[in-house]
Amino acid sequence: MGFARLALLERIHLKGLQRMNQPFIRNHQYNRIKKAVGQLRNAIQTVSDPKVIRAVREQTAIAVSEAVPDAAEEQKRLLAGAADLATAEDCQRFADSLEPYVADFGALTDEQLRKLFPKIKKLKLPDRSGLDSRFVTYLGWTDIASNRMFLVYRLDGRYVGVEGTVTPANKKNTCFLCNRHEEVALFSAISKKRPAGASPDYYQSFGNYLCLNSETCNRGITDVSALEAFLRNLIG
Ligand SMILES: [Zn+2]
Repeated sequence: MGFARLALLERIHLKGLQRMNQPFIRNHQYNRIKKAVGQLRNAIQTVSDPKVIRAVREQTAIAVSEAVPDAAEEQKRLLAGAADLATAEDCQRFADSLEPYVADFGALTDEQLRKLFPKIKKLKLPDRSGLDSRFVTYLGWTDIASNRMFLVYRLDGRYVGVEGTVTPANKKNTCFLCNRHEEVALFSAISKKRPAGASPDYYQSFGNYLCLNSETCNRGITDVSALEAFLRNLIG
């Protein structure tokens, strides 16, 4: 084999490796993977019938591969490791081995956050100390003094921010974002969309119950469709 061809193959191989080492799993996808793997681990630990475990393993492998629909070939191979999980330790190791591939939400500066809410004069900024931005699907925080809640999310490749009023429910209910039974609040925001010919006092607001604690929510969210639909209703 000629040197040039060898060098070319080496480059292709390196490119594949680079792509493979790049983070490609979004937080909600990682949550989905961990949930599926957790179900398998639970079955391994509690069920004695190997047929049942095999069936759960198959379901887990499907759920893991479907969690990242746009994965490249090399990335799909990484995810396919779910089909070989035999012990509870394997399950833990597998979940841990994917952690380096979780894509960062991005560390937004205070200035970037202020720009997302130009109408808020004294924006209360979120406490991001100790926040691991890999495990963030959306950034959410409240300003108790003004009863307002702020959400920041990367929609179609750009950060968008929405703000609205927040009313704690003072009881647990289903969060529309993570679908879990948690301490929730009613978040209500006015849409920036205006139909043509709308009267000056026209407005439309959208409300939903969501986790009061956005860190808890970000640890549980496995699907972003409800969040994206909600944001699309609000942004102009
Ligand atoms: Zn939630």
